[in-house]
Amino acid sequence: MKIGVLALQGAVAEHIRSIERAGAEAIPVKRVEQLGDIDGLIIPGGESTTIGKLMRKYDFMDAIRSFSSQGKPIFGTCAGLIVLAERIQGDEEAHLKLMDITVARNAFGRQRESFETDLKVVGIDEPVRAVFIRAPLILEVGEGVEVLSTYNDEIVTARQGHLLAASYHPELTDDYRLHAYFIEMVREQADRQG
Ligand code: GLN
Repeated sequence: MKIGVLALQGAVAEHIRSIERAGAEAIPVKRVEQLGDIDGLIIPGGESTTIGKLMRKYDFMDAIRSFSSQGKPIFGTCAGLIVLAERIQGDEEAHLKLMDITVARNAFGRQRESFETDLKVVGIDEPVRAVFIRAPLILEVGEGVEVLSTYNDEIVTARQGHLLAASYHPELTDDYRLHAYFIEMVREQADRQG
């Protein structure tokens, strides 16, 4: 079982380290052909407009949609969550449009550009350490989307079947349980596909 981290821009090395510490193999994905070698994909944080541009430039849009349509799990963190969303608040054109959520970018205001907190996440026993950096919020979720955590009543972690999204950066801490949760999603799907 192998997990890929989309390596166009953003916190790639940190996700690879967290996946490895959580006990699975991880590789950086720079070319669409590599999607054939992996069982799950992480889209990291960074800057969603830049990641979206590079995904279009290197033909990742349809390739990742087809990866997803095979039921293969995808985990988007921060900018990666924005890239997964069907709708972005305001006029901005959405990117992959895979997950039935509406997101607001940079939703925590200037005075709170970045902060850390402990979050209760459904399916994980003890609170998870989360680093928020110019983080997005999930404003609305569709019917098939399960809310896994909130911060001040705002949705910051959600799951829609094989898709997982977090507003924050779990890869910037020594807490690997959200990565372990994703690895479990990938393992279940890989078992199902035999
Ligand atoms: N603010 C960034 C964006 O809108 C996301 C920030 C992050 O990934 N840490 O793309």
